[in-house]
Amino acid sequence: MSTTPPIDEVARDAAARLRAAGLRPTRQRVALVRALFGQGDRHVTAEQLYAETQALDVGVSLATVYNTLHQFTRAGLLRELAIGSGRSYFDTNTGHHHHFFYEGTGQLVDVPGELVQVASVPLPPKGTEVSGVDVIIRIKDGGC
Ligand SMILES: [Zn+2]
Repeated sequence: MSTTPPIDEVARDAAARLRAAGLRPTRQRVALVRALFGQGDRHVTAEQLYAETQALDVGVSLATVYNTLHQFTRAGLLRELAIGSGRSYFDTNTGHHHHFFYEGTGQLVDVPGELVQVASVPLPPKGTEVSGVDVIIRIKDGGC
């Protein structure tokens, strides 16, 4: 678990992050960057982030949250994890790591990349290459 930076630092950093990713720092995008990255590494669904933004008075719709999360993912600010029945989590930690997934609570917990060893994977289809291997270790019986 990383430490949480002061919120002023996150606010200053938000516009810079967006510009570096080639995205115009609109008020809504800056607000979403602050909500996402102001609390250390985390995994959120679009619905969770939307619920948080309702308290911030930034006037974003669920569709805007959803679209912005995908823009951030394409820009490399987030990593998308599709788990189970089409449910997507967005991960603020884009470094190499895997996950515990608590089936009872839907919580994701980071597992350092070096703690998982994948012995072999099948050859990818001709003309393609493996870009990464994500391991999700499913945990039964609720939370932690
Ligand atoms: Zn993660």
